[in-house]
Amino acid sequence: MNTAPVLSESGRPVQPGSTPRDTPRENVNPYHIALEQLETAAQYLELDPGLHEVLKYPERELIVHFPVKMDDGQTRVFTGYRVQHNVARGPAKGGIRYSPHTDLDEVRALAMWMTWKCAIVNIPFGGAKGGVVCDPRTLSHSELERLTRRYTSEISILIGPNTDIPAPDMGTDAATMAWIMDTYSMNVGHTVPAVVTGKPVAVGGSEGRSDATGRGIVFIAQEALRDNGISMRGARFAIQGFGNVGSVAARILHEIGARVIAVCDAEGGLYNPNGLDIPALRDCARREGSILAHGGGDPITPRQLLELDTDVLIPAAVENQITLENVHRIRARIIIEGANGPTTPAADRILQERGVFLVPDVLANAGGVVVSYFEWVQDLQFFFWHEEEVNQKMEKILIRAYRDVREMARKEKVDMRLAAYLIGVKRVADATTLRGFYP
Ligand code: GLU
Repeated sequence: MNTAPVLSESGRPVQPGSTPRDTPRENVNPYHIALEQLETAAQYLELDPGLHEVLKYPERELIVHFPVKMDDGQTRVFTGYRVQHNVARGPAKGGIRYSPHTDLDEVRALAMWMTWKCAIVNIPFGGAKGGVVCDPRTLSHSELERLTRRYTSEISILIGPNTDIPAPDMGTDAATMAWIMDTYSMNVGHTVPAVVTGKPVAVGGSEGRSDATGRGIVFIAQEALRDNGISMRGARFAIQGFGNVGSVAARILHEIGARVIAVCDAEGGLYNPNGLDIPALRDCARREGSILAHGGGDPITPRQLLELDTDVLIPAAVENQITLENVHRIRARIIIEGANGPTTPAADRILQERGVFLVPDVLANAGGVVVSYFEWVQDLQFFFWHEEEVNQKMEKILIRAYRDVREMARKEKVDMRLAAYLIGVKRVADATTLRGFYP
Protein backbone atom coordinates (compact mmCIF):
# COMPACT_ATOMS: atom_id res chain seq x y z
CA MET A 1 0.00 0.00 0.00
CA ASN A 2 1.33 3.41 -0.92
CA THR A 3 1.38 6.31 1.47
CA ALA A 4 -1.04 9.16 0.80
CA PRO A 5 -0.05 11.25 -2.18
CA VAL A 6 1.41 14.56 -1.10
CA LEU A 7 -0.21 17.68 -2.41
CA SER A 8 1.32 21.08 -2.93
CA GLU A 9 -0.31 24.13 -1.42
CA SER A 10 -2.37 24.53 -4.57
CA GLY A 11 -3.73 21.05 -3.85
CA ARG A 12 -2.04 19.42 -6.82
CA PRO A 13 -0.27 16.10 -6.28
CA VAL A 14 3.48 16.73 -6.10
CA GLN A 15 6.14 14.35 -7.32
CA PRO A 16 7.77 11.83 -4.97
CA GLY A 17 10.90 13.24 -3.39
CA SER A 18 9.34 16.60 -2.58
CA THR A 19 7.52 15.43 0.55
CA PRO A 20 7.36 18.21 3.16
CA ARG A 21 9.46 17.43 6.25
CA ASP A 22 6.68 17.66 8.80
CA THR A 23 4.21 15.25 7.25
CA PRO A 24 2.01 14.13 10.15
CA ARG A 25 1.82 10.44 11.09
CA GLU A 26 -1.66 10.20 9.68
CA ASN A 27 -2.79 12.46 6.89
CA VAL A 28 -6.43 13.38 7.47
CA ASN A 29 -6.86 15.76 4.53
CA PRO A 30 -9.99 14.29 2.88
CA TYR A 31 -8.71 14.87 -0.66
CA HIS A 32 -5.40 13.14 0.14
CA ILE A 33 -7.41 10.25 1.57
CA ALA A 34 -9.63 10.10 -1.54
CA LEU A 35 -6.48 10.05 -3.71
CA GLU A 36 -4.98 7.24 -1.64
CA GLN A 37 -8.15 5.18 -1.99
CA LEU A 38 -8.15 5.79 -5.75
CA GLU A 39 -4.47 4.86 -5.93
CA THR A 40 -5.11 1.51 -4.25
CA ALA A 41 -7.90 0.71 -6.69
CA ALA A 42 -5.91 1.94 -9.71
CA GLN A 43 -3.00 -0.34 -8.82
CA TYR A 44 -5.29 -3.30 -8.34
CA LEU A 45 -7.05 -2.63 -11.65
CA GLU A 46 -3.70 -1.97 -13.36
CA LEU A 47 -5.24 1.22 -14.65
CA ASP A 48 -3.41 3.00 -17.42
CA PRO A 49 -1.25 5.67 -15.68
CA GLY A 50 -2.65 8.43 -17.91
CA LEU A 51 -6.20 7.46 -17.07
CA HIS A 52 -5.33 7.30 -13.37
CA GLU A 53 -3.90 10.80 -13.68
CA VAL A 54 -7.15 12.04 -15.25
CA LEU A 55 -9.21 10.60 -12.38
CA LYS A 56 -7.04 12.21 -9.70
CA TYR A 57 -8.05 15.74 -10.65
CA PRO A 58 -11.45 17.36 -10.40
CA GLU A 59 -12.52 18.35 -13.88
CA ARG A 60 -13.78 21.78 -12.79
CA GLU A 61 -13.39 23.84 -9.62
CA LEU A 62 -15.16 27.10 -8.97
CA ILE A 63 -14.37 29.29 -5.97
CA VAL A 64 -16.68 32.21 -5.27
CA HIS A 65 -16.53 35.04 -2.76
CA PHE A 66 -19.80 36.86 -2.45
CA PRO A 67 -21.43 39.50 -0.25
CA VAL A 68 -24.52 38.95 1.87
CA LYS A 69 -26.44 41.71 3.67
CA MET A 70 -26.89 40.57 7.26
CA ASP A 71 -29.99 41.34 9.33
CA ASP A 72 -28.11 44.03 11.28
CA GLY A 73 -27.39 45.93 8.05
CA GLN A 74 -23.72 44.93 7.81
CA THR A 75 -22.24 43.24 4.77
CA ARG A 76 -20.34 39.96 5.15
CA VAL A 77 -18.35 38.18 2.47
CA PHE A 78 -18.71 34.39 2.26
CA THR A 79 -16.61 31.86 0.37
CA GLY A 80 -18.21 29.02 -1.56
CA TYR A 81 -17.12 26.19 -3.84
CA ARG A 82 -18.57 23.97 -6.52
CA VAL A 83 -16.38 21.16 -7.77
CA GLN A 84 -17.20 18.72 -10.56
CA HIS A 85 -14.93 15.73 -10.31
CA ASN A 86 -16.00 13.69 -13.33
CA VAL A 87 -18.82 13.69 -15.86
CA ALA A 88 -17.90 10.68 -18.01
CA ARG A 89 -21.06 8.77 -17.04
CA GLY A 90 -23.52 11.65 -17.00
CA PRO A 91 -24.27 15.07 -15.49
CA ALA A 92 -22.42 15.96 -12.30
CA LYS A 93 -24.38 15.17 -9.12
CA GLY A 94 -23.78 15.94 -5.48
CA GLY A 95 -24.85 17.91 -2.47
CA ILE A 96 -24.05 21.34 -1.07
CA ARG A 97 -22.57 21.59 2.42
CA TYR A 98 -22.85 24.59 4.74
CA SER A 99 -20.15 24.23 7.37
CA PRO A 100 -17.60 26.49 9.08
CA HIS A 101 -14.98 23.77 8.51
CA THR A 102 -15.44 23.14 4.80
CA ASP A 103 -12.67 23.98 2.34
CA LEU A 104 -11.62 23.24 -1.22
CA ASP A 105 -9.92 19.93 -0.41
CA GLU A 106 -12.94 18.66 1.49
CA VAL A 107 -15.23 19.56 -1.40
CA ARG A 108 -12.82 17.90 -3.88
CA ALA A 109 -12.87 14.68 -1.86
CA LEU A 110 -16.63 14.71 -1.51
CA ALA A 111 -16.97 15.30 -5.27
CA MET A 112 -14.68 12.37 -6.06
CA TRP A 113 -16.57 10.12 -3.65
CA MET A 114 -19.80 11.10 -5.47
CA THR A 115 -18.28 9.94 -8.77
CA TRP A 116 -17.55 6.48 -7.35
CA LYS A 117 -20.87 6.33 -5.45
CA CYS A 118 -22.97 6.99 -8.55
CA ALA A 119 -20.93 4.45 -10.51
CA ILE A 120 -21.16 1.77 -7.79
CA VAL A 121 -24.96 1.95 -7.69
CA ASN A 122 -24.89 2.38 -11.48
CA ILE A 123 -26.95 5.55 -11.88
CA PRO A 124 -26.09 7.78 -14.86
CA PHE A 125 -24.32 10.62 -13.07
CA GLY A 126 -20.83 11.92 -12.53
CA GLY A 127 -19.70 13.37 -9.22
CA ALA A 128 -19.78 16.90 -7.81
CA LYS A 129 -20.01 18.70 -4.49
CA GLY A 130 -20.44 22.23 -3.26
CA GLY A 131 -19.84 24.03 -0.03
CA VAL A 132 -20.17 27.40 1.64
CA VAL A 133 -17.96 28.29 4.60
CA CYS A 134 -20.54 29.36 7.18
CA ASP A 135 -22.19 28.17 10.36
CA PRO A 136 -25.87 27.87 9.41
CA ARG A 137 -26.89 27.65 13.09
CA THR A 138 -25.74 31.22 13.63
CA LEU A 139 -27.60 32.64 10.61
CA SER A 140 -31.24 33.74 10.59
CA HIS A 141 -33.74 32.26 8.16
CA SER A 142 -33.61 35.33 5.94
CA GLU A 143 -29.78 35.51 6.06
CA LEU A 144 -29.67 31.87 4.98
CA GLU A 145 -32.08 32.62 2.16
CA ARG A 146 -30.01 35.57 0.89
CA LEU A 147 -26.79 33.57 1.21
CA THR A 148 -28.30 30.62 -0.68
CA ARG A 149 -29.74 32.76 -3.46
CA ARG A 150 -26.49 34.65 -4.02
CA TYR A 151 -24.39 31.45 -3.90
CA THR A 152 -26.79 29.85 -6.42
CA SER A 153 -26.43 32.82 -8.68
CA GLU A 154 -22.60 32.64 -8.39
CA ILE A 155 -22.48 28.92 -9.32
CA SER A 156 -25.21 29.19 -11.96
CA ILE A 157 -22.52 29.07 -14.66
CA LEU A 158 -22.10 25.40 -13.69
CA ILE A 159 -25.43 24.07 -12.45
CA GLY A 160 -28.40 23.03 -14.57
CA PRO A 161 -30.69 20.02 -15.09
CA ASN A 162 -28.39 18.60 -17.79
CA THR A 163 -25.06 19.67 -16.37
CA ASP A 164 -24.77 19.66 -12.60
CA ILE A 165 -27.56 18.92 -10.13
CA PRO A 166 -27.07 19.89 -6.46
CA ALA A 167 -28.81 18.31 -3.45
CA PRO A 168 -28.75 18.65 0.34
CA ASP A 169 -25.73 17.72 2.43
CA MET A 170 -24.62 18.71 5.94
CA GLY A 171 -26.13 22.04 6.99
CA THR A 172 -28.61 22.27 4.09
CA ASP A 173 -32.11 20.85 3.69
CA ALA A 174 -35.23 20.81 1.51
CA ALA A 175 -35.91 24.51 2.18
CA THR A 176 -32.41 25.38 0.91
CA MET A 177 -33.10 23.37 -2.25
CA ALA A 178 -36.39 25.23 -2.83
CA TRP A 179 -34.46 28.55 -2.80
CA ILE A 180 -31.88 27.16 -5.23
CA MET A 181 -34.62 25.93 -7.56
CA ASP A 182 -36.43 29.27 -7.38
CA THR A 183 -33.32 31.37 -7.93
CA TYR A 184 -32.21 29.34 -10.94
CA SER A 185 -35.75 29.34 -12.34
CA MET A 186 -36.15 33.11 -11.95
CA ASN A 187 -32.93 33.61 -13.89
CA VAL A 188 -33.88 31.40 -16.82
CA GLY A 189 -37.47 32.69 -16.79
CA HIS A 190 -39.35 29.43 -16.20
CA THR A 191 -39.60 26.77 -13.50
CA VAL A 192 -36.85 24.14 -13.69
CA PRO A 193 -37.49 21.59 -10.91
CA ALA A 194 -34.80 19.19 -12.21
CA VAL A 195 -31.96 21.61 -11.47
CA VAL A 196 -31.79 20.38 -7.88
CA THR A 197 -32.96 17.36 -5.87
CA GLY A 198 -34.03 16.98 -2.27
CA LYS A 199 -36.65 19.71 -2.72
CA PRO A 200 -39.92 19.81 -0.77
CA VAL A 201 -42.51 17.50 -2.39
CA ALA A 202 -44.76 20.53 -3.00
CA VAL A 203 -42.28 21.98 -5.52
CA GLY A 204 -41.27 18.85 -7.41
CA GLY A 205 -39.44 16.89 -4.73
CA SER A 206 -39.76 13.12 -4.57
CA GLU A 207 -41.71 11.18 -2.01
CA GLY A 208 -39.22 9.30 0.15
CA ARG A 209 -36.22 11.56 -0.57
CA SER A 210 -35.91 13.06 2.91
CA ASP A 211 -35.71 9.61 4.51
CA ALA A 212 -33.76 8.00 1.66
CA THR A 213 -30.21 8.03 3.04
CA GLY A 214 -31.28 6.69 6.45
CA ARG A 215 -33.63 4.13 4.92
CA GLY A 216 -30.91 2.99 2.51
CA ILE A 217 -28.55 2.44 5.43
CA VAL A 218 -31.12 0.14 7.01
CA PHE A 219 -31.47 -1.88 3.76
CA ILE A 220 -27.68 -2.25 3.71
CA ALA A 221 -27.58 -3.10 7.43
CA GLN A 222 -30.10 -5.90 6.88
CA GLU A 223 -27.87 -7.42 4.21
CA ALA A 224 -24.69 -6.99 6.26
CA LEU A 225 -26.24 -8.57 9.36
CA ARG A 226 -27.52 -11.53 7.36
CA ASP A 227 -24.05 -12.00 5.84
CA ASN A 228 -22.53 -12.03 9.31
CA GLY A 229 -25.10 -14.37 10.86
CA ILE A 230 -26.62 -11.77 13.18
CA SER A 231 -30.39 -11.44 13.59
CA MET A 232 -31.81 -7.92 13.24
CA ARG A 233 -34.17 -8.58 16.18
CA GLY A 234 -32.37 -7.25 19.21
CA ALA A 235 -29.13 -6.48 17.35
CA ARG A 236 -27.33 -3.59 19.04
CA PHE A 237 -26.67 -0.39 17.06
CA ALA A 238 -24.67 2.69 18.07
CA ILE A 239 -25.24 5.70 15.84
CA GLN A 240 -22.96 8.74 15.76
CA GLY A 241 -24.87 11.74 14.35
CA PHE A 242 -28.54 12.53 14.78
CA GLY A 243 -29.13 14.60 11.66
CA ASN A 244 -31.02 13.60 8.55
CA VAL A 245 -29.04 10.37 8.20
CA GLY A 246 -28.56 9.15 11.78
CA SER A 247 -31.97 10.04 13.16
CA VAL A 248 -33.87 8.44 10.26
CA ALA A 249 -31.75 5.27 10.43
CA ALA A 250 -32.36 5.13 14.21
CA ARG A 251 -36.11 5.52 13.73
CA ILE A 252 -36.39 2.77 11.12
CA LEU A 253 -34.07 0.39 12.99
CA HIS A 254 -36.18 0.88 16.11
CA GLU A 255 -39.35 0.18 14.07
CA ILE A 256 -38.00 -3.11 12.74
CA GLY A 257 -37.00 -4.41 16.17
CA ALA A 258 -33.29 -3.59 16.42
CA ARG A 259 -31.91 -2.19 19.66
CA VAL A 260 -30.45 1.30 19.26
CA ILE A 261 -28.23 1.48 22.35
CA ALA A 262 -26.59 4.86 21.72
CA VAL A 263 -27.07 7.99 19.65
CA CYS A 264 -25.37 11.37 19.74
CA ASP A 265 -25.14 14.70 17.98
CA ALA A 266 -22.15 17.05 18.01
CA GLU A 267 -22.94 18.17 21.59
CA GLY A 268 -23.13 14.67 23.08
CA GLY A 269 -25.50 11.76 23.34
CA LEU A 270 -27.15 9.02 25.32
CA TYR A 271 -26.32 5.40 26.01
CA ASN A 272 -28.67 2.71 27.28
CA PRO A 273 -27.59 -0.93 26.85
CA ASN A 274 -31.25 -2.01 26.94
CA GLY A 275 -32.10 0.21 23.98
CA LEU A 276 -33.22 3.83 23.71
CA ASP A 277 -36.80 4.94 23.12
CA ILE A 278 -36.08 6.49 19.71
CA PRO A 279 -39.55 8.00 19.01
CA ALA A 280 -39.48 9.77 22.40
CA LEU A 281 -35.94 10.92 21.74
CA ARG A 282 -36.85 12.36 18.35
CA ASP A 283 -39.82 14.18 19.88
CA CYS A 284 -37.56 15.59 22.55
CA ALA A 285 -34.95 16.68 19.99
CA ARG A 286 -37.69 18.45 18.02
CA ARG A 287 -39.15 20.12 21.11
CA GLU A 288 -35.98 21.04 23.00
CA GLY A 289 -33.53 21.31 20.11
CA SER A 290 -31.27 18.62 21.60
CA ILE A 291 -31.43 14.91 22.36
CA LEU A 292 -29.63 15.55 25.65
CA ALA A 293 -32.81 16.80 27.29
CA HIS A 294 -34.22 13.25 27.07
CA GLY A 295 -33.49 11.34 30.25
CA GLY A 296 -33.63 7.76 28.94
CA GLY A 297 -29.92 6.96 29.08
CA ASP A 298 -26.47 7.83 30.40
CA PRO A 299 -24.67 10.82 28.88
CA ILE A 300 -21.95 9.90 26.40
CA THR A 301 -19.54 11.86 24.20
CA PRO A 302 -19.37 11.34 20.40
CA ARG A 303 -15.89 9.79 20.83
CA GLN A 304 -17.05 7.39 23.56
CA LEU A 305 -19.95 6.27 21.39
CA LEU A 306 -17.52 4.97 18.77
CA GLU A 307 -15.86 2.68 21.30
CA LEU A 308 -18.99 1.05 22.73
CA ASP A 309 -19.51 -2.70 22.86
CA THR A 310 -22.08 -3.02 20.06
CA ASP A 311 -22.88 -5.26 17.11
CA VAL A 312 -23.11 -2.42 14.60
CA LEU A 313 -21.58 1.04 14.59
CA ILE A 314 -22.96 3.66 12.21
CA PRO A 315 -20.76 6.75 12.01
CA ALA A 316 -23.22 9.21 10.45
CA ALA A 317 -21.66 12.57 11.30
CA VAL A 318 -18.43 13.87 9.73
CA GLU A 319 -15.10 12.73 8.29
CA ASN A 320 -12.13 11.24 10.14
CA GLN A 321 -13.89 9.74 13.14
CA ILE A 322 -12.20 6.32 13.08
CA THR A 323 -8.47 6.99 12.93
CA LEU A 324 -5.17 5.48 14.09
CA GLU A 325 -5.81 7.19 17.41
CA ASN A 326 -8.96 5.22 18.35
CA VAL A 327 -9.21 2.28 15.93
CA HIS A 328 -7.76 -0.15 18.48
CA ARG A 329 -10.59 0.64 20.86
CA ILE A 330 -13.40 0.08 18.33
CA ARG A 331 -15.40 -2.95 19.45
CA ALA A 332 -18.20 -3.13 16.84
CA ARG A 333 -18.32 -6.23 14.63
CA ILE A 334 -19.89 -4.34 11.74
CA ILE A 335 -19.39 -0.72 10.68
CA ILE A 336 -21.78 0.92 8.24
CA GLU A 337 -20.55 4.30 7.06
CA GLY A 338 -23.48 6.72 7.06
CA ALA A 339 -21.19 9.76 6.77
CA ASN A 340 -18.82 10.36 3.89
CA GLY A 341 -15.22 9.58 4.81
CA PRO A 342 -15.54 8.66 8.50
CA THR A 343 -12.64 6.15 8.41
CA THR A 344 -9.02 6.92 7.50
CA PRO A 345 -7.12 4.48 5.24
CA ALA A 346 -4.76 3.47 8.07
CA ALA A 347 -7.70 2.70 10.36
CA ASP A 348 -9.36 0.85 7.49
CA ARG A 349 -6.40 -1.52 7.22
CA ILE A 350 -6.42 -2.24 10.95
CA LEU A 351 -10.16 -2.91 10.97
CA GLN A 352 -9.73 -5.32 8.10
CA GLU A 353 -6.90 -7.16 9.87
CA ARG A 354 -9.15 -7.49 12.91
CA GLY A 355 -11.96 -8.94 10.79
CA VAL A 356 -14.40 -6.04 11.28
CA PHE A 357 -16.94 -6.02 8.45
CA LEU A 358 -17.11 -2.46 7.09
CA VAL A 359 -19.58 -1.30 4.46
CA PRO A 360 -18.05 1.83 2.89
CA ASP A 361 -19.75 5.22 2.52
CA VAL A 362 -19.84 5.05 -1.29
CA LEU A 363 -22.20 2.09 -0.98
CA ALA A 364 -23.79 2.42 2.48
CA ASN A 365 -25.11 5.98 2.15
CA ALA A 366 -25.98 5.84 -1.56
CA GLY A 367 -29.75 5.66 -0.89
CA GLY A 368 -29.84 9.46 -0.88
CA VAL A 369 -28.41 9.93 -4.34
CA VAL A 370 -30.39 6.99 -5.72
CA VAL A 371 -33.63 8.71 -4.73
CA SER A 372 -32.17 11.99 -6.00
CA TYR A 373 -31.86 10.22 -9.35
CA PHE A 374 -35.53 9.20 -9.10
CA GLU A 375 -36.47 12.78 -8.25
CA TRP A 376 -34.58 14.10 -11.28
CA VAL A 377 -36.27 11.54 -13.55
CA GLN A 378 -39.71 12.43 -12.15
CA ASP A 379 -39.02 16.16 -12.61
CA LEU A 380 -37.88 15.68 -16.21
CA GLN A 381 -41.05 13.69 -16.96
CA PHE A 382 -43.44 15.78 -14.80
CA PHE A 383 -44.78 12.43 -13.61
CA PHE A 384 -44.57 11.51 -9.94
CA TRP A 385 -44.43 8.20 -8.09
CA HIS A 386 -45.82 7.01 -4.75
CA GLU A 387 -43.44 6.59 -1.82
CA GLU A 388 -43.85 2.81 -1.87
CA GLU A 389 -42.62 2.67 -5.45
CA VAL A 390 -39.68 4.94 -4.64
CA ASN A 391 -38.64 2.83 -1.65
CA GLN A 392 -38.98 -0.46 -3.53
CA LYS A 393 -36.94 0.77 -6.48
CA MET A 394 -34.26 2.14 -4.16
CA GLU A 395 -34.09 -1.13 -2.21
CA LYS A 396 -33.63 -3.08 -5.42
CA ILE A 397 -30.76 -0.89 -6.61
CA LEU A 398 -28.99 -0.84 -3.25
CA ILE A 399 -29.27 -4.57 -2.66
CA ARG A 400 -28.00 -5.37 -6.12
CA ALA A 401 -25.05 -3.00 -5.61
CA TYR A 402 -24.34 -4.48 -2.17
CA ARG A 403 -24.36 -8.03 -3.53
CA ASP A 404 -22.14 -7.10 -6.49
CA VAL A 405 -19.64 -5.52 -4.10
CA ARG A 406 -19.75 -8.47 -1.68
CA GLU A 407 -19.23 -10.86 -4.60
CA MET A 408 -16.25 -8.84 -5.78
CA ALA A 409 -14.83 -8.79 -2.23
CA ARG A 410 -15.09 -12.58 -2.03
CA LYS A 411 -13.72 -13.20 -5.50
CA GLU A 412 -10.74 -10.86 -5.12
CA LYS A 413 -10.29 -11.50 -1.37
CA VAL A 414 -10.32 -7.76 -0.63
CA ASP A 415 -12.30 -5.61 1.81
CA MET A 416 -15.66 -4.11 0.92
CA ARG A 417 -14.23 -0.63 0.26
CA LEU A 418 -11.68 -1.83 -2.26
CA ALA A 419 -14.30 -4.13 -3.83
CA ALA A 420 -16.68 -1.17 -4.22
CA TYR A 421 -13.88 0.93 -5.73
CA LEU A 422 -12.92 -1.86 -8.14
CA ILE A 423 -16.48 -1.74 -9.49
CA GLY A 424 -16.95 2.05 -9.41
CA VAL A 425 -13.53 3.14 -10.67
CA LYS A 426 -13.67 0.51 -13.43
CA ARG A 427 -17.06 1.80 -14.64
CA VAL A 428 -15.79 5.37 -14.76
CA ALA A 429 -12.53 4.31 -16.42
CA ASP A 430 -14.44 2.28 -19.03
CA ALA A 431 -16.80 5.17 -19.79
CA THR A 432 -13.84 7.52 -20.15
CA THR A 433 -12.01 5.11 -22.47
CA LEU A 434 -15.09 4.51 -24.61
CA ARG A 435 -15.69 8.22 -25.00
CA GLY A 436 -12.03 8.95 -25.70
CA PHE A 437 -10.41 12.32 -25.21
CA TYR A 438 -11.64 15.39 -27.05
CA PRO A 439 -10.34 16.75 -29.42
N1 GLU B 1 -25.17 14.69 -0.19
C1 GLU B 1 -25.62 13.36 -0.43
C2 GLU B 1 -24.44 12.41 -0.59
O1 GLU B 1 -23.37 12.65 -0.10
C3 GLU B 1 -26.64 13.27 -1.55
C4 GLU B 1 -26.17 13.75 -2.88
C5 GLU B 1 -27.29 13.81 -3.92
O2 GLU B 1 -28.39 13.36 -3.66
O3 GLU B 1 -27.00 14.31 -5.00
O4 GLU B 1 -24.56 11.36 -1.16
